[in-house]
Amino acid sequence: MWTNRYWQTEVWTLAFIILVVGLIGSLFDRAAASVAVVIFAYLFWNLVQLSRLYRWLVKSRALYPPSAPGIWGEIFNHLYVLQRKHRKELKKLKGIISEFRASTSALKDGALIISNQGEIRWFNRAAERLLGLKSSTDIGQRLFNLLRHPSFIEYEQTRDYNKPLIINSPADERIILNIRITPYNDDQRLVIIRDITEKQHLERVRQDFVANVSHELRTPLTVITGYLEMLDPETNPQLESVAKPLQMMRQQALNMGHLVDDLLLLSKLDAKAEENGKQEVDINLMLDSICAEARSLSGEKEHQILFHSHTNTNLYGSEKQLRSAFSNLIFNAVRYTQAKGRIDIFWKEDDSNLILQVQDNGPGIAEEHIPRLTERFYRVDSGRNRSQGGTGLGLAIVKHVLEGHNGKLKIQSELGKGSTFSCVFVKVK
Ligand code: ADP
Repeated sequence: MWTNRYWQTEVWTLAFIILVVGLIGSLFDRAAASVAVVIFAYLFWNLVQLSRLYRWLVKSRALYPPSAPGIWGEIFNHLYVLQRKHRKELKKLKGIISEFRASTSALKDGALIISNQGEIRWFNRAAERLLGLKSSTDIGQRLFNLLRHPSFIEYEQTRDYNKPLIINSPADERIILNIRITPYNDDQRLVIIRDITEKQHLERVRQDFVANVSHELRTPLTVITGYLEMLDPETNPQLESVAKPLQMMRQQALNMGHLVDDLLLLSKLDAKAEENGKQEVDINLMLDSICAEARSLSGEKEHQILFHSHTNTNLYGSEKQLRSAFSNLIFNAVRYTQAKGRIDIFWKEDDSNLILQVQDNGPGIAEEHIPRLTERFYRVDSGRNRSQGGTGLGLAIVKHVLEGHNGKLKIQSELGKGSTFSCVFVKVK
C-alpha cells in the first residue's frame, strides 16, 4: 500500500502540513494546539469525503462518482471501475436469462421446474397452455394439488420415472399429454410435457386398420377353408391329380388363419381390451394341457417333452392371453427343435418372481438376432420358419402379454446347444 503513489503523496502532504503548522505554532508557543487543529481539519475533510461516498453509493443514481483530490479521488475511481464491471456482468446475465426465457417460451413442449415437494418454481408458456396453469397465481403452489388426476398422483407417489405418464390434459380433455419427470440437483425436478394427441390418433388408426383388415379376412378365409375340406381326394377320386396343390392350398389357408388370429390377438392386446377379464389362473393345469397339445404337435418327431412343476402358486391375469403366450413358447420349441430333441418346461418361484421356463436342446439362435426376436414379423430364417407354420408374431404376442401381466421375457440361447425362454412375473405382495 505504501508504495502506491497516491498514498505516499497523501502521507507526505499530511506530514508536511503538520510539520509546517507545528513549526509556525511553536513560534507562538502553540505547537500542540496548531497540530491538533490540522488533525481535526483533516478528520473533518475525511468525514466530508466519506459522506459524499455514502451519498453516491446509497442515494444517488449517478453513474459517475464525485470527484475528489488525492487518495479519495483514487478510491472513487476504483469503485467506479468495479461498479462498471459489475453492471456489465449484470447486463450479460440479464441477456442470458432473457434469451433462455425467449427460447423456452418458443418451445412447443411444456417445461416446469418443481421442488422435491412438488412446489412449482417456474414454467414456460406451453406448460401454461397444456396444463391450464396461471403464472400469476400458480407459482409456489403444489403441482399435484393443481392437477388432481389420479394417475398423476400415483405416478408421483411411486416415483418411478422410467416410463412416461400419459394422461388427458386438465385444460382440454381432447389433448393427450406425455409427461416425463427428471430429478436433478438434490431437490429439483424438471417436468417435460408433450402434446401427443396426433401421434396417439395415428396409432389408433393403425390399430383399427389392422384389426379391421384381419376381421374382414376371416369370412373369406372360412369360406375357402370350408370348400377346400370338401375337395378331399380321398372321397373324390377324380381329384387325385390335383391332390398335391389342394394339400398346399389347405396348408396355406391354415397358415393364413393363424396369421389372422395372431393379428387379431395383437390388436386386442394393443387396445388393452381384455383388461377386465382378469382372474386367478391355474398355471399347472394350463401347462399340463399345453404340453399334451405340444406332444400331439410333435407327432412323428417324437420330442421328449417334460413338465416340471415346482410350485402351486397361480397367476392373476387373463387366461386366454397367458395360454396364448405360453403355448407360443412351447410350440416354438417343438417346431424349431430337431426330431427326438428334449424340451423341458418349468413352473417355479423364487423370493420375488414366478417363472415359466421353456428349455430346448434345439439349434439355438445367434446372439445378434436375440434382441430383435420380439419385433413383429422378425424371423431368423424367414423361408424355413414360414414353412414350419410360423407367423412371425408369436414372440411379439408373448412380450405384449407379459407387459400386461407385470412380467418380462428373457431369452438365452447358444447356437448348436439350445434355447431357454423365461417369463419372469413379479410377485404381487
Ligand atoms: P415364428 O412364428 O416365426 O415362430 P416367433 O415370433 O414365434 O415367430 O419367433 C421368432 C423367431 O425366433 C422364429 O422365426 C425363430 O427363428 C426363432 N425362434 C423362436 N423360438 C425358437 C426356439 N425355441 N429355437 C430356435 N429358434 C427359435
